Amino acid sequence: MPPVSLRCRECSTEYPLEARYVCEQCFGPLAVAYARQAQSSDRAGVDELRRRIQAGPYSMWRYCDFLPVAPPASALQAGFTPLLRADRLAEQLGIRELWIKNDAANPTHSFKDRVVSVALARARELGFTTIACASTGNLANAVAAHTAAVGLESYVFIPSDLEEQKILATGVYGTHLVAVRGNYDDVNRLCTELSAEQQDDADAAQSGEAGGPAGDRSEWAFLNINMRPYYAEGSKTLAFEIAEQLGFQLPDRVVVPIASGSLFTKLAAGFDEWIEAGLLSGETPTFNGAQADGCSPVATAFHDGRDFCQPVKPDTIAKSLAIGNPADGPYALDLARRTGGSIDSVPDDEIRDGIRLLATTTGIFTETAGGVTIAVLRKLAERGDIDPGERVVAVVTGEGLKTLECARGTFDTWEIEPSMDAFEAARARLTVAA
Ligand SMILES: *Cc1c(COP(=O)(O)O)cnc(C)c1O
Ligand SMILES: [Zn+2]
Repeated sequence: MPPVSLRCRECSTEYPLEARYVCEQCFGPLAVAYARQAQSSDRAGVDELRRRIQAGPYSMWRYCDFLPVAPPASALQAGFTPLLRADRLAEQLGIRELWIKNDAANPTHSFKDRVVSVALARARELGFTTIACASTGNLANAVAAHTAAVGLESYVFIPSDLEEQKILATGVYGTHLVAVRGNYDDVNRLCTELSAEQQDDADAAQSGEAGGPAGDRSEWAFLNINMRPYYAEGSKTLAFEIAEQLGFQLPDRVVVPIASGSLFTKLAAGFDEWIEAGLLSGETPTFNGAQADGCSPVATAFHDGRDFCQPVKPDTIAKSLAIGNPADGPYALDLARRTGGSIDSVPDDEIRDGIRLLATTTGIFTETAGGVTIAVLRKLAERGDIDPGERVVAVVTGEGLKTLECARGTFDTWEIEPSMDAFEAARARLTVAA
């Protein structure tokens, strides 16, 4: 399916496959549009497509037939993360078939490696030499690492109050790390202004030179701003992988964290593309979105019955989801309603419990975003939203070592002298206490 254009999601105006993200007619967001393949009712064609996927590399690039770029040469390969059957967690929650998609098992330990892989590949095709982003943390990690792997300069902009683990795990790659005194929405606004000004300068230089020497582009590729249509495509690979790992079958329900809503909506796009290609049969799964109470503009709009989001000022331990003005909010609301799902939020103490519940029943240690997902999964189960026969997939998007602080105080340590007596005394004391 070759990509043909960028198309406005609101008015369908088409644009070339350039570094742009907003419609000049209606200010709607742009998305990559592909040439429609004749609907594959033809079994041989579908079998051949499935064989080609299965013979592909053990990374997200096995799905390159459904991506807008050719597989790039880079040592950092994202994707092909485990889908684990979580029977012990399922039993605790009273769910029959539960799977955890552990997308912490990526090069920089979050699903952001997928979106960066696609956007960076397109940026290089378009001749950009400086890569940038506005990040809530994980995107910064991924951009710094993937640009280091291919030897490009990068600038990552983060809120200055980010977890220390995420700052250290970004700076180590040798990026220009810009910590902005403000929240993510302030960071994003600054980067959007920067990007627009660079674009104006580049346009002015080009019209002045009238086809002057082709050189390196001076403007930057902001992977989640002017490259956003390509960035968003990377998330589809998570849907493809889930379906392939289930034996080319659809789940009935997916539970997914929401920051801007891009991952949430693109997962659905991924399932839909494979249904259309004849690789999957059935309908779009039920979509449940997960947010923190301290930043729940989409969940609030869902429960108020509105189809737009009221921006909020985030205040939650789930910093990777702390976007107060989510770009894909209206599309996320539509998706949840259209599939019979919902968007729910949970308080910080339930997020900590969610991290703990996942760790103690599956051995997976997730960051706060994963705690949000598991806490919402529990809420759905307790509310009776999940039918007994359903196959449920919960998407765990990031690694616990990046938000270590949240584990502090949730367990006891026996500190003892190195002797048998000390050990026995501690055990007696702690067994009595318990
Ligand atoms: C970025 C991120 C998300 C979701 O981001 P969207 O903007 O909604 O696509 C979810 N989990 C983690 C850990 C993230 O870093
Ligand atoms: Zn438009």
